[in-house]
Amino acid sequence: MNNIEHTKIPQATAKRLPLYYRFINNLYNQGKTRVSSKELSEAVKVDSATIRRDFSYFGALGKKGYGYNVDHLLTFFRETLSQDEVTKVTLIGVGNLGTAFLNYNFTKNNNTKIEIAFDTTPEKVETNIGGVPVYHINQLEEKIGEDISVAILTVPAQAAQPIADRLVKAGIQGILNFTPARITVREHVRVHHIDLSVELQALVYFLKHYPLYENNEAE
Ligand code: ATP
Repeated sequence: MNNIEHTKIPQATAKRLPLYYRFINNLYNQGKTRVSSKELSEAVKVDSATIRRDFSYFGALGKKGYGYNVDHLLTFFRETLSQDEVTKVTLIGVGNLGTAFLNYNFTKNNNTKIEIAFDTTPEKVETNIGGVPVYHINQLEEKIGEDISVAILTVPAQAAQPIADRLVKAGIQGILNFTPARITVREHVRVHHIDLSVELQALVYFLKHYPLYENNEAE
C-alpha cells in the first residue's frame, strides 16, 4: 500500500493524516496490533464513513471483524508524512508568537525542527532562543541553508509580502503564514495561512449560532 500517488489523495483527507498518525502511533506504543474504524472514529472525532473513505485512498482496506492492521498503517503514515526525515524550518519575526514557537520548537513531532530565526530588532539579533540562533533579516540570503524548506512567518502584516518574496527566491517551498496579510507567491510554493484571531472569532461565532452543532469539524 505504499505506492500511492499522493496527488490523488484529496486535500481534506491529507489534512487528517497527521491526526490519524498520532493516534495510530499511540496505539502502536501501547502494543495494540489492530484497530477498528469505530475506535478510530471515536478517538479522532471523524465519522467512520469518512475514515473508511480516507483509508481506501491509502489502499488500506479494513477487514470486517478485524479492522486495520496498526503496523501497516504506521509504516504507511511514517513514509507518507516523511517521519524518517527531518524537515528544517526557519522562523521570521521573533516577537511574542515567534518566541513561543522557538521555545516550543515542535519537540513532540520529531520530524520538523526550527533551525534558524531572523528579526530586525538589534537586541534579538545574535541571540539564541530555545536553542535556535537569531540573525538579522538582512542576513537572510547569506545564512539560510539550502536544506531549509519551510518558513514560519510571525512578522507584522506589512512585512509579510516582501519577506515571502525573499524566502521564495532563497528556495523555500512552504510558508506557514501567521500574519493577517494574504501573501502571493509563485505557483509551486505552498502557503498555509493561520490567522489566530479569525479562528478564535469563528469559534465564538459557532458557539453562539450553532450551539448544538453535532459535527465537531466545521468544514
Ligand atoms: P507578536 O505579533 O508575535 O505578538 P510583537 O507584538 O512582539 O509580536 P510584532 O510587531 O508583531 O511584535 O513583530 C513581531 C516580530 O517581528 C518582532 O520581533 C519584530 O522585531 C519583527 N519584525 C518586524 N519587521 C520585521 C522584518 N521586516 N523582518 C524580520 N522581523 C521583523
